[in-house]
Amino acid sequence: MFKAVHNYFNQSISRLVMASFVFVLLFPLGFLASSLPEESWGSVRQEVLKKHLVIAHSVEESIDFYFRSFQKSAQIFANMVHLTSIEDKDIIQEHLNRFVKNSGSVVVASYLSLDDYSKVISIKDAYKPPVHNKNKVIEEPYLKYLSFGNRHRTISTISPVFRSSISKSPVVLVKTYISDEKFNQRGILYAEIRLDYIDSVCGNINIGSKERCIVVDSMGKVVTHPNQKWVNQITNLSKDRVVQNLRNGKSGTMSYKSSLLGKSNEAIDVGYTSMEKLSWGVIIAQPKLAIDSPMDKVMMTILKWLILGIIFALVIAYFLTRQITQPINSLVTKSQEADIRSDTFNLGAIPKNSPAEICKLWTAISSLVTRLQQSNEEVKKLNYSLHKDIEKATEKLRKTNRYLYTISSKDHLTNIANRRYFEDTVSKKLKQKVGERASIILIDVDKFKFINDEYGHEAGDLALIHIAKLMRQCTRDVDLPARLGGDEFVIYINNCGPRVLAKIAENLRKTVESTPIFWEGAKVNLSLSIGTVNCEINEKVTLAMLLKYADEAMYVSKEHGRNHVSAYSFKETKLLKLKQRVSS
Ligand code: GH3
Ligand code: MG
Repeated sequence: MFKAVHNYFNQSISRLVMASFVFVLLFPLGFLASSLPEESWGSVRQEVLKKHLVIAHSVEESIDFYFRSFQKSAQIFANMVHLTSIEDKDIIQEHLNRFVKNSGSVVVASYLSLDDYSKVISIKDAYKPPVHNKNKVIEEPYLKYLSFGNRHRTISTISPVFRSSISKSPVVLVKTYISDEKFNQRGILYAEIRLDYIDSVCGNINIGSKERCIVVDSMGKVVTHPNQKWVNQITNLSKDRVVQNLRNGKSGTMSYKSSLLGKSNEAIDVGYTSMEKLSWGVIIAQPKLAIDSPMDKVMMTILKWLILGIIFALVIAYFLTRQITQPINSLVTKSQEADIRSDTFNLGAIPKNSPAEICKLWTAISSLVTRLQQSNEEVKKLNYSLHKDIEKATEKLRKTNRYLYTISSKDHLTNIANRRYFEDTVSKKLKQKVGERASIILIDVDKFKFINDEYGHEAGDLALIHIAKLMRQCTRDVDLPARLGGDEFVIYINNCGPRVLAKIAENLRKTVESTPIFWEGAKVNLSLSIGTVNCEINEKVTLAMLLKYADEAMYVSKEHGRNHVSAYSFKETKLLKLKQRVSS
């Protein structure tokens, strides 16, 4: 796979350069695009969670302050009760009324003297704290310890949230034990405390539009909640994971799925703190989407610009690639053309705006091409002259060959065919002309020694030349006269019968006899002894055989006194001495 990709990009310089640009561009962009959301998401969420925790702490402080002010009022009431005799019910009632009025957070209160349980003093005679009602809504174990103020005088416990029978709205019951200097308990102050203040605290804290403040009591019941219904119904949230953490006294941040904000299984980010003295919990919650969607918007914007950037970069990369590869490609194309028509080839002008290296390469190749063309021209010229030289040499060789052939096939003295040529030619003919007639005339000069001796060797040579000339005159072009050696000659007569052959031989004999040569003023007569043979050519006929028969006939002529023509007869077992002596 990698190899295929590598090959694909390696095949063309354009692809390679383009791929380099894309890789160099996309790698950092891709890295940025993939790492940016993770980095920014994580840190933004962390920051938001921290903020939630800080807000939760400030809500906790406000609630703490609310109960502290209540405690202050309770403290003042305790001091007043401490100074008053239990018998002065009216005065205690007055203190109680003042306490309710000053605190501002108390719905209803009653005071129980521990000296006498029947002496319950309340602002309303009808009001009995729920702990003493027949239908007890709050049992002692549920009361949580509240340690505000001076412990020597007052120790308070607080109940879970319940619906007040007086105000019909959610309240908590704070039970404050009042003691004297010697820590003897004098009485108990019961007070139902309104919770709408805490709701308004949550409302007043400046938190984001999607961030919500939830306060739960020690049982996990709603004290405040963005959904007023849940407040009125005192919804129990104890099953929620964060609420469970709070009940275990934990604080922190968490991202999880919950129904805390009303929607079931909603992903939310929360910061939560558990209140040490009240055992309540404050939760600042925000749907995960509230953080994600703006971040998504940011990411979309980044992505949009990233894509635009990539497109822009690719366009730039394309043009830059073209800028680099176009001159190279045109150089390659031109170089390929050079192969086809190298003589007329011209690289032409350098493409505009080519990089410096390409310009140099172009110039170098251009001069290389010119030099190549010049060398090519020179090679051509050289070739031409070489061709001419070869032609001349070949012609000379041909001539020499011809000459050599001539001298190797001709007799050097008489200039007619020599023995070897004669034998080769006639042997071939005998093989080719089966069915035709073969005729041989064998000639020996009479008393030639005498001529040599009498007139000299040169005269003898002249005689031989003269006889050869006459042989040519007496035969046709298709016949082949030759010198066998010394004063012996032969003629192959082409396709004729015995009669014609006899005529030709006789004619030659007569011509030689009647044509003497002259040497140094002396007349030198010449004569020939001739033997002939004539037969039909078949596979058995050989030249050696024919020469032998002709030679035998020629000897017959010699025996007859020379200057004779004798023909070899196949009919007789012995050679007949022919009496065919023709005298002039
Ligand atoms: P015959 O009639 O019996 O043939 O008598 P002859 O004298 O011709 O005897 P023969 O044919 O044997 O003699 C041939 C002579 O020819 C012998 C040799 O000296 C001579 N001869 C051979 N070649 C040449 C040559 O090239 N030039 C010359 N001048 N003489 C030659
Ligand atoms: Mg002779």
